[in-house]
Amino acid sequence: MSRVYNFSAGPAVLPVEVLQEAADEMLDYRGTGMSVMEMSHRSKAYDTIIKEAEADLRELMEIPDNYKVLFLQGGASQQFAAIPMNLMQNGVADYIVTGQWAKKAYQEAQIYGKANKIASSEDETFSYIPDCSDLPVSEDADYVYICENNTIYGTKFKTLPNTKGKTLVADVSSCFLSEPVDVTKYGVIYGGVQKNIGPAGVVIVIIREDLIRDDVLPGTPTMLKYKTHADAESLYNTPPAYGIYICGKVFKWLKKMGGLAVMKQRNEEKAAILYDFLDQSQLFQGTVRKEDRSLMNVPFVTGDAELDAKFVKEAKEAGLENLKGHRSVGGMRASIYNAMPREGVEALVAFMKKFEEENK
Ligand SMILES: *Cc1c(COP(=O)(O)O)cnc(C)c1O
Repeated sequence: MSRVYNFSAGPAVLPVEVLQEAADEMLDYRGTGMSVMEMSHRSKAYDTIIKEAEADLRELMEIPDNYKVLFLQGGASQQFAAIPMNLMQNGVADYIVTGQWAKKAYQEAQIYGKANKIASSEDETFSYIPDCSDLPVSEDADYVYICENNTIYGTKFKTLPNTKGKTLVADVSSCFLSEPVDVTKYGVIYGGVQKNIGPAGVVIVIIREDLIRDDVLPGTPTMLKYKTHADAESLYNTPPAYGIYICGKVFKWLKKMGGLAVMKQRNEEKAAILYDFLDQSQLFQGTVRKEDRSLMNVPFVTGDAELDAKFVKEAKEAGLENLKGHRSVGGMRASIYNAMPREGVEALVAFMKKFEEENK
């Protein structure tokens, strides 16, 4: 067996221990004589899996009792609609547009009500986070929406926006569990798990109970009502059962690693290896304003598209995979999520040094 260092933005690298454990349990999950994939989601064994996953996530993030944890499907993109459908009581919401995902969420919300763009960094190709300390938050806004870590552009909110008392909704797909968060600052925290937690097919929504209502936008499908899933504890219909099982294993792995404070420290150290190299390189440059740099997604360029392509190709040959930047921006991007070991980042930087020498 040989594994590459996989810098994919998502679906992305998972901890080897988790994959190994899942492999060991593939044919016979703990004496049940079947795989978790073949198991009823109403079975006792599965009930333990999903309950433990939720309990471990609650412990890791210190989620207060007045928040529900929902394991859903449809990806982060489905939440772009579910959020306005469930939360737009006044039919108004404010969006801070810091990248393609925030923009898509903003555009989707316009279908359901009045979505206002109250800040944007599109003027400089989303390479920074705008000052959000005193934004023109709408008097009647039902919520203020952010994408906390911008996967494509590599920016991250280091301080949350001043929402002037309005509910904060955050897409944390690509920074989920990368560091401790104060859940009480948010009304809704959600993300697709395929970036920093588990396999594609699961989206986790953490939502304050008072935001879960019956009187949602008329026409909201049953499956898109948070109340449907909250009342049924994520078992209204068949959940993405195997994906949740893997997420549960990742939660246990994170606990074993020491929790989110330890992950933050590890992630800062890993990111520093790469950013420090970029800051002194004569060939490669980071594309993001320094104070807004993400710990998870690190875009960089040489300034020459042909050289970028050569880099991506030769890196792949050296066992460093998926370094091509998003199709909308080009260049390179290294996603260095929780499960990327420090050695992977060191190998990348060693390769970049060598490439720089050879292509001066
Ligand atoms: C990947 C990503 C999405 C889209 O996720 P899907 O699960 O594919 O819908 C949304 N937001 C962010 C921040 C992402 O990184």
